[in-house]
This record gives sequence, C-alpha cells and structure tokens, in this order.
Amino acid sequence: MDFHQFKEEVIAHSKEIGIDKIGFASADVFGELKARLKRQQELGYQSGFEKGSVQERTEPGRLLPGAQSIISIALAYPSKMHDAPKSKKGDRRGIFCRASWGQDYHNVLRDRLHRLGAFLQEKFPEVELKTMVDTGELSDRAVAERAGIGFSGKNCAVITPEFGSYVYLGELVTNIPFAPDDPVEDSCGDCNICVDACPTDALVQGGQLNAQRCIAFLTQTKDFLPDEFRTKIGNRLYGCDTCQTVCPKNRKKDFHNHEEFEPDPDVVKPRLTPLLSISNRQFKEKFGFISGSWRGKKPIQRNAILALAHYRDETAIDELIRLMKEDPRPVIRGTAAWGLGKIGNPECFQAIEEAKRLEEDEKVLYEMEKGLQFLEQ
Ligand code: SF4
Ligand code: SF4
Repeated sequence: MDFHQFKEEVIAHSKEIGIDKIGFASADVFGELKARLKRQQELGYQSGFEKGSVQERTEPGRLLPGAQSIISIALAYPSKMHDAPKSKKGDRRGIFCRASWGQDYHNVLRDRLHRLGAFLQEKFPEVELKTMVDTGELSDRAVAERAGIGFSGKNCAVITPEFGSYVYLGELVTNIPFAPDDPVEDSCGDCNICVDACPTDALVQGGQLNAQRCIAFLTQTKDFLPDEFRTKIGNRLYGCDTCQTVCPKNRKKDFHNHEEFEPDPDVVKPRLTPLLSISNRQFKEKFGFISGSWRGKKPIQRNAILALAHYRDETAIDELIRLMKEDPRPVIRGTAAWGLGKIGNPECFQAIEEAKRLEEDEKVLYEMEKGLQFLEQ
C-alpha cells in the first residue's frame, strides 16, 4: 500500500466529514510528558480526573499493541455568543465556559473519529484502532502538539494558527505507518498575559497548571469550595475561560463551523435564582446535553449560590434562606449560610442565627459561623 497516497486520502476525507484540522504523529513514547506528569504528581498538582497510569498516558503502545501512528483531529468552537442575555441587577445570570457550549463535544468528536475510523477500515481492512477524546489515557494536547495541530501555550492550551486555542481535540491510535507531520513553529515568547490574568495563580512557571487551584477544576468539585476561591469564581457555574480570552493569539478567533457547538444563550448563561430550586428532572432536561452537566446539579447549584453572593443579590435572600434551612445536602445548606453572610443585610444574619439553633451538621455550623463573621467586617 502507498501510505503517502493513503494519508492524502485521509486528509481529504477528514474535510468532507467536518474535521477542521488533522495532523499525524508517531506513536513513540511521550518522554517529556512522562517527566512532567511525574513532577505534577510529586507536587500534588493533579485534578484527580486523570485516567490511567503515567505509563498508559505516555506510551501509546500500551493502549494499542503495534501502534505506529496517532491521528490528531481538531474541531473549532465559537468564542462569541449571539444574543447573549444581560446579567442585570435583580436578574443575575451565571455562565458556563465555552467548552460547554452546544452539545457535549465528546459525542461530536467521537462521531467524527468513528467516521474517520470507518474510512480507514474500508481502505485498509487490516487496520487496528483506538479512539480517544479528553477522558482517554493519552494527553490530547501532547498528541496534538506532536502532530502539528498547534503549540502548547503558557495557558496549557494547544494554540492553533488558524483557530487559536478554541478547538476540541481527539485522537486515533493506529497500526498504520503514516509519515508524521512537523510540529508548529511558534511559541508564547515573552508574553505572560495569561499567567498574570489567572485569578487564582493556577498557572505556575508558565505552561504548568496546578489543577488544585484552577477554577475550571474547582467548579466541578462537589464538596465545600475552599474559602480562598469563593470570592474568585465570580459568576462562573462551570469552567473558566480567562486564560484563553486574554490570549492575543485568540484575538478575532470566533468560528461557527459546527451547528452542534452553537450555544443556547439561556442554557449557558442561565438565571441564577431559578437554579436553586430546579428538580433533578428539570436539570437533566435543560442541561443534560451539555458537557458542563456531567457532575450533576450539586456543583452547579453550589456555584450559583457563590455567584449570587458575589453579586450580593438581595432578591435571592428568601431562596437562600430556604436552602439553608431545608436543603438535605450539607454543602448546599452551608454554602447558602456563607452566601447570606456575604450578602450581609440584617435579615440574613437573623436567619443564620435562627437556622443555627436547629442545625446539627458540624461542617454546616462552621459555615454559619463564618457567615456571621461578615457582620463584624
Ligand atoms: S482556567 Fe481560569 S483558573 Fe484555570 S488557569 Fe486558566 S485562568 Fe486560571
Ligand atoms: S496569553 Fe500569551 S503567554 Fe499566555 S498562552 Fe497566550 S500567547 Fe502564551
């Protein structure tokens, strides 16, 4: 088989099935990444959502015996929303990050990878494949970098010359000896804008992320949010785009190539107060199809409470008091108590005092104490 010719056919087919960029990489061990992951582990910078051992994450041959190449694909997503509703006083709204706009990208990317895989199979029946998107063992970013999709920025995103960093990445490990592409020759240079703009100093030494400090990760946790970050998440309900939106390489990058990624403004920028009383069924109906709902409604509700506290939204006080007194989940009762303290009008403090007398959970009581401390500030 003429693999050079075959590669050209694969590239042409990728365009036909709506893949914005494709690159080819060798399936050699990712040595540099291995060292970095080990360092991340030692420093405690991991998110805990990682899949597989360091070996599995850096040695493609462990995932597909006989692996010879990896095909990396990128699909561009929009950075701007048309007709975004305003977040106004008394009618505040939260925001889901751009990677959660439209349909869950995992499904869209998987569809494209399967179609590409079917093409490979049709043309080369001996092919063996393994596809991966985000939650697979391999690092989508390391593969994309090696395959010439883009370079790795200090914001830890892969930055493509064509679409900036607003791309979803996925890959296909194969046993076909495709010739590798050259990596993109670009870098951040002296720029340090994202490192300086990160609200929680999560980007360390440019290019390394401390996931334990990153809002994108913190918005997905289910427990109480550590105090230090409560005033930093603003109105973010899921994810954080700051280190991408400030990046000069993303200037004027806004691609609407895929209907699937078009956001419904009322879903990705929803009113905050109604979120507090949404049922499981309603949550699933409204948010179930977006990637930002994968952790369920509790983290989103906790973040909505913090967003209302951030805005000191007095119109939410009744609802927050109800949650503090009646919600069965300690994280929600406690966060509501803290939020009421932050809003800080006399009605809030009186309600916390009342609820304290009936509360039995120690962690919630501790949050109530913290809420009352705002009275002294
Ligand atoms: S996503 Fe947000 S919190 Fe995380 S590194 Fe970027 S700017 Fe910082
Ligand atoms: S903001 Fe500057 S330093 Fe950060 S990723 Fe973009 S170019 Fe690189």
